[in-house]
Amino acid sequence: MMHLVELKQVSKSYDKNVQVLHSIDLQIEEGEFFVLVGPSGSGKSTLLRMIAGLESLSGGELKIQGRLVNHLPPKERHLSMVFQNYALYPHLTVEQNILFGLSAKKVNKQEQQKRLQEAVSMMGLGDLLKRKPKQLSGGQRQRVALARSVISQEPLCLMDEPLSNLDAKLRAHMRTEIRRLQKKLGLTMIYVTHDQVEAMTMGDRIMVLNEGEIQQIGKPIDLYNQPANLFVASFIGSPR
Ligand code: ADP
Ligand code: MG
Repeated sequence: MMHLVELKQVSKSYDKNVQVLHSIDLQIEEGEFFVLVGPSGSGKSTLLRMIAGLESLSGGELKIQGRLVNHLPPKERHLSMVFQNYALYPHLTVEQNILFGLSAKKVNKQEQQKRLQEAVSMMGLGDLLKRKPKQLSGGQRQRVALARSVISQEPLCLMDEPLSNLDAKLRAHMRTEIRRLQKKLGLTMIYVTHDQVEAMTMGDRIMVLNEGEIQQIGKPIDLYNQPANLFVASFIGSPR
């Protein structure tokens, strides 16, 4: 059986003396919604950025679709990424922001328009295409960032705390939206959050990270009923 993403003994040090990730072993299946959860500073973003190719590995192997990608540039990894701060281009319109990556990939104009219409209706952005990012609310900006990721039609999607700038009500709404989208498109998702409620409600499986070490990997119900240690129990809030 082939895993879509596979990490073997992956480690990371930014400085020689400080190791921020310790021998991470992990397999993610195709079509899975995989959540990476842990407190601030536990190494979540570092791990995601390594999978994206934005950060080098200090040790170990990273495979995507069975292929060793340790030294492959981000563009060739067939993935899209949504960051916490959305990183929209302020001088471009919503439409130009959404289409930005497609022009670079030489997708033809007709196909671009087809995908744009799909993404826009999916995200409810129809009336906003000519606006600039500063004329949008936080929730609207986030939907633009999601549309931009969806339109790439890459099979693997990485999200790093994409909802943390939104208010509680919008966050709850967007959780449902993202799950719906992921199912509909059959995406494999690696979703980073420090919010245990988000992790428990969204994940098919969850990996709990603390100080660069895996504490437990499992389904939400298993983490809740059988936390591997006290850290997981208190982090998840299970009754042990
Ligand atoms: P998280 O996303 O879980 O909050 P990070 O992956 O951002 O954690 O950070 C993990 C550790 O690595 C932290 O101690 C952080 O200070 C350190 N770190 C992150 N990025 C860098 C960097 N570019 N250079 C040096 N240290 C870094
Ligand atoms: Mg982070």
